[in-house]
Amino acid sequence: MHSILVYHTISSPPTPLPGDIDISPDRFEQQLHWLSRHRNVVKLERTLLAPKQPRTTAITFDDGFRDNLTVALPLLEKFQFPMTLFVVADYVGRKNYLTRDELLELSSHPLITIASHGFSHRHFNLLTADRARFELIESRLFLSTITRKEVTLLAWPFGECNRSLEKLAEDCGYYAAWSVWKGTNGRFSRWRVPLGRNDNLLRFMAKANGVYALTKAQWHRLKDDEDLEISQAQVSKHRVPQGRLSASE
Ligand SMILES: [Zn+2]
Repeated sequence: MHSILVYHTISSPPTPLPGDIDISPDRFEQQLHWLSRHRNVVKLERTLLAPKQPRTTAITFDDGFRDNLTVALPLLEKFQFPMTLFVVADYVGRKNYLTRDELLELSSHPLITIASHGFSHRHFNLLTADRARFELIESRLFLSTITRKEVTLLAWPFGECNRSLEKLAEDCGYYAAWSVWKGTNGRFSRWRVPLGRNDNLLRFMAKANGVYALTKAQWHRLKDDEDLEISQAQVSKHRVPQGRLSASE
């Protein structure tokens, strides 16, 4: 089965970044080496066309860290692996993030696709529809202007989305979007596997070969069912004073 990996920064900061999102260059190279021997690494869009293709993996990066250009790209070139980079528009030019010129340089590289990660990395579930629409449209425009290319792919910040946001992304002109275990796992919320500094090779193998996703997906379905039962129970509790509950409720 296919897997879609999420990286952030390829670096070794003395203290772990929040969310353990840093991975050392050595460990990253070790992972790429394993992929080169055991998986077929393809462009992200290919996983949409043939989701059941065996042994297939796509590589994505989120946020737009500068080391994606200076550290990750030379290693990706070594293995000739494509990568999709989901950039937060508002982070461009900040310390440790890509500048406009670097983003343009990356976007013209044959292995790299630049995509949107929202305008300002917000929790979309908490936004009004107008603000969510702004984030989706303005980030596309901003990144298209810099890269001089159309931007049609999206990754939800924090991996968060829901059915109405998926519809909104489509309305805002996106071709597809990716989450992290949230949403319907349809074309606008395809699930990805996050990686971090604590992933040794064994854990990486489980994540890259799709086993981890199966377990995690099952856990999320159970959790969603539990949440639904809890909310239904709360609704029922409020109904009690108005009359007896029937079995169908
Ligand atoms: Zn992010």
